[in-house]
Amino acid sequence: MRKKIIVAGAGHGGLVAAYRLAIKGYDVTVYERAEQESDLGYPWEDFFDVNTFPDAGLPMPETGKIPKVPISFYGPNPDDDPICQTVNDGEYEMHMYRKDLYAHLMKYVKDAGVKMVYGCEIQEPIMIGNRVIGIKTSKGDFTAELIIDACGVDSPLRTKLPSYLGIQNELKKYDYFYAYRAYYNRLEGFEDVKDEYKVYFVDDGKEGLSWAVTTKDSVDLLVGRFEPFGDDEIKRMYNICKQDNPHLGSELLLGGQICKIPVRQPIAILVADGYAAVGDSACMTVPIVGSGIANSIRAGVLLSKAVLADKNGEFSIHTLWKYQTDYYKEIGASMATVDLFKIFLTRITKDDFAFFFGNKILTSEDLSINSNETSVKAMFSNITFSIIVDRLKKVGGNPDLLKKLGSIALSAGKLKLIMTRFPSAYNRAAVIKWANRYNKLFAGLVEDL
Ligand SMILES: Cc1cc2nc3c(=O)[nH]c(=O)nc-3n(C[C@H](O)[C@H](O)[C@H](O)COP(=O)(O)OP(=O)(O)OC[C@H]3O[C@@H](n4cnc5c(N)ncnc54)[C@H](O)[C@@H]3O)c2cc1C
Repeated sequence: MRKKIIVAGAGHGGLVAAYRLAIKGYDVTVYERAEQESDLGYPWEDFFDVNTFPDAGLPMPETGKIPKVPISFYGPNPDDDPICQTVNDGEYEMHMYRKDLYAHLMKYVKDAGVKMVYGCEIQEPIMIGNRVIGIKTSKGDFTAELIIDACGVDSPLRTKLPSYLGIQNELKKYDYFYAYRAYYNRLEGFEDVKDEYKVYFVDDGKEGLSWAVTTKDSVDLLVGRFEPFGDDEIKRMYNICKQDNPHLGSELLLGGQICKIPVRQPIAILVADGYAAVGDSACMTVPIVGSGIANSIRAGVLLSKAVLADKNGEFSIHTLWKYQTDYYKEIGASMATVDLFKIFLTRITKDDFAFFFGNKILTSEDLSINSNETSVKAMFSNITFSIIVDRLKKVGGNPDLLKKLGSIALSAGKLKLIMTRFPSAYNRAAVIKWANRYNKLFAGLVEDL
């Protein structure tokens, strides 16, 4: 009999795993709260890695591939030059309307024979002992041999798993952004826009960041904050961005809601007997900016490989551990390091940012990107904490900033060591010990804030 797999929530990684497993003969059903296919996804465009579709074994969409748009980083002092990425000719990325991305994925998902159940609110996991055997939903209970959790950051499965599984239920402050995203009209008469993609650090790092991306007809404004916020904060950031982007109009074209994005290291344990988390439910975004499409889809591929390698269809924590190991090796460990940069950003004040920009501590080359990797992953691979420490020392002064950086550099060393001890085969005691060390490192850093 065909093995039954449930994908809980139509998250991107879950859909890709669903597609890859259905074409290999698995009986896959996706349960999704949206009422219909056209309701999937957000009403805006997203940047992601150009290799995402080929890596997932999917054809490229007809549109969306564009030359990479360099990001320019702006500090709090308008007189300081921004740090602008350099992008070589021939480097591309995807910039797709999220609903088009979903339409592209869904075509292959449906052709592969995956069943879709819409209008279905997932409530909690169904357990027998240590094993997740199904989901409780607004449409009844459903069971399967494997449950793939693709329900996003507030997954009702991850958050309600019993604590003895060791899978982190709740997220904490600084683990996610509240992000306001809205497209405003682009005013005419300002044809010569200098930097199309601007990221702003205008407050203490503890507050968050913002961006303004100029497109042909609109300006895409994002305000990301670690605390919930309202209209006053949106207005304040709108005005700051308006000063720097006089072409930013006031007519709201798209979006305008506040959503949550995980911006932290991946959760320590991704799997249990009969269960695997993928995408935002496992916090697989790039920590500083929250890009998660490429990582989520890649994780879906890795998960499908682990499932296909499990010839007896056990879907136990032992067989699913391959997914956990592959994810950490290929993506997770580097995302955890990027999270240390995010934690560093949360420690630096507005004055520190001004010092960084004013003294050109980071350069365009540091933040330059290459075409073969997710841009942010590649961006932070060019710079290390010890390089920054050396540069700070060269310009002299700011011992406070050096101290903050020193403690993060130390944590980077500890993280490296923790990663060398990653258990390559599943053994409960070793895994729990490893997860405790990994979680403790990050919890300790955030407690200091
Ligand atoms: C403002 C903003 C801007 C972003 N910009 C980018 C960007 O430029 N590039 C990029 O790569 N990423 C970006 N991201 C992040 C990106 O959206 C996610 O990382 C990516 O979608 C992967 O998440 P996911 O597919 O796992 O989960 P989600 O996208 O959250 O999908 C989860 C799915 O599960 C469903 N679901 C949730 N709960 C239930 C339930 N209880 N019952 C049934 N179904 C449920 C949801 O309806 C949804 O369909 C952005 C996110 C936000 C909020």
